[in-house]
Amino acid sequence: MPMNKEQLKKNQPIVYRTLSNALQKNRLAHAYLFSGPKGSPKKEVALLLAQSIACTHRDADGFACQTCDCCRRIANEESIDFFWKHGIDHKKVVKDPFSKQAKTIISSRIKKTDIVELQSFFEATSAEKDNSRVYILEDYDQATPEASNSLLKFLEEPQPGIYGILVADEVNNVLPTIQSRCQSIVFRPPSIDDLYDALKEEIDDEKANMLAHSGYMYEQAIEIANDSQFEIIEQAAKNYREHWQSWQAIVDMQTQIFVPKSPLCDKTWIRIWIQWLLFFIKKDKTLSLTTRVDLELILVEAIDTLRIPVDLGLFLDRVYAQIRKVVQNERR
Ligand SMILES: [Zn+2]
Repeated sequence: MPMNKEQLKKNQPIVYRTLSNALQKNRLAHAYLFSGPKGSPKKEVALLLAQSIACTHRDADGFACQTCDCCRRIANEESIDFFWKHGIDHKKVVKDPFSKQAKTIISSRIKKTDIVELQSFFEATSAEKDNSRVYILEDYDQATPEASNSLLKFLEEPQPGIYGILVADEVNNVLPTIQSRCQSIVFRPPSIDDLYDALKEEIDDEKANMLAHSGYMYEQAIEIANDSQFEIIEQAAKNYREHWQSWQAIVDMQTQIFVPKSPLCDKTWIRIWIQWLLFFIKKDKTLSLTTRVDLELILVEAIDTLRIPVDLGLFLDRVYAQIRKVVQNERR
């Protein structure tokens, strides 16, 4: 998926301007350190920068077209001028030329052998004289000290035409000696769109969409999504949504989901159940506009009420009753 450059310009204006200036004036640093919260598009921009260094169809701001052969080869990791050490747990399927079976390689933290591999990759592929070459090292904040010591030697004797991009969530975990040899590019927290894109790589689309639009941070969202209760709550919200005009829907909620003193009957899960309802209602074109607005008001107010100490049983009964009243009017 090509990076949305307009989105980048809007959401990360300083990153955009800094890189655009360097590309346009041909004043790239030989090493960059991209840092910022998880979910901000550091990896995507690292790839865009790698493409921008090589692409011959750059846009007015100096960025790659992302569609030409050269850009595609880089994105597909088929370029001999490009080395990409992926982030931890990244899965890459490679075809073994000697057997027909493809195998999956799962990336781990950067070790000394990775840096040795990087150096020999660039030595082995003595590229055409004018070709610039780029490497990306993701999750650099997790690299072993031995890896950093090897990389340091590489950074101390920069070779013309070789550019490095180190990517890290936590800049404080990167050795100061490495930091001082890189130009630092700091990313802002992700926008909702960026967060959604990042979450989609880990969890299914609808869950990613709901969590991104409900104001969670990346780590929080992943933690919630990996909790087995989350699935139950999602299903409960779907079932309730289908029958919310009926008493049975309320009874089901009371006796199967938010049973008083059960683990699910807890503010966190009630809030998430409400957020699922809000998410469904926003998308639901079968509801009239007034009904949608009325329901959203009830639910937003309910989330607010959860901030203060409240009897959860009574609170939920009131929410069910308010919703039922609105959706019954709709049906008349
Ligand atoms: Zn291109």
